[in-house]
Amino acid sequence: MFTGWVIFFFVLGAELGSFINMLSDRLPANKSIVTPGSVCDACGKRLGAAELIPVFSYIFLKGRCRSCGAKIPARALWVEIATASLFAIFYVIIGPSAELAISLVYLCVFITLFVIDLEKGLILNVIIYPCMLLALALSPLYLQADGILANLSSSFFGGLSGFGLFLLIYIASRGGIGEGDIKMAGFIGLVCGFPNIFVAIFTGIVLGGLAAAALMLSGKRRKGQTMPFGPFLAVGAVTAMLFGSQIMDWYLGLA
Ligand SMILES: [Zn+2]
Repeated sequence: MFTGWVIFFFVLGAELGSFINMLSDRLPANKSIVTPGSVCDACGKRLGAAELIPVFSYIFLKGRCRSCGAKIPARALWVEIATASLFAIFYVIIGPSAELAISLVYLCVFITLFVIDLEKGLILNVIIYPCMLLALALSPLYLQADGILANLSSSFFGGLSGFGLFLLIYIASRGGIGEGDIKMAGFIGLVCGFPNIFVAIFTGIVLGGLAAAALMLSGKRRKGQTMPFGPFLAVGAVTAMLFGSQIMDWYLGLA
């Protein structure tokens, strides 16, 4: 039974991964996410049922459109595999609950933010603003504090902490991070609440710092050149969603 559910969430994740691919193509280009349905971006041909099966269709078609032969970006495949794997992992760690359902919604949002910021260097308001409201509204069902008011204030102060901290970093670094990063940190705070937001931010900053150092050492990036920070914040947020309270307990145990 357990294995059956793991497979179910893996397949569900693969389907949503292909939806995230569509969002990541269309939202930055200001295209409708409703019409047309699934089409080849190069020739506009509508995809058949077999071509809509995530992961397998990419492998069988060898990453090309069946009609025009245009290359489908490899990102399409790795987003499907990553989303599928994370859905299964979330199920295993969180277990069947309202928290799981809400976590999976946030997970999809964070993967979409990750992909668009990595490719385009953009954190879109059209995603961030509605998701901020959603996170505050869902906090009584998602966060673990006692009572509706406690959860709403945890979400609110988490959001304020993320937003405030990144606003300070933005000012101190004179625009070394983007304005979108400030809003994204605020959104993550609304999702994770207070004090879990600090787990997300700390993880994001450590990973971002390591990646920046690695890129600079390998000569792929010069000092002063900006690097999208959203992907690191997204990984930090997912870490906080899965292990936030354990990491917090561990840290408080050290202090
Ligand atoms: Zn095509």
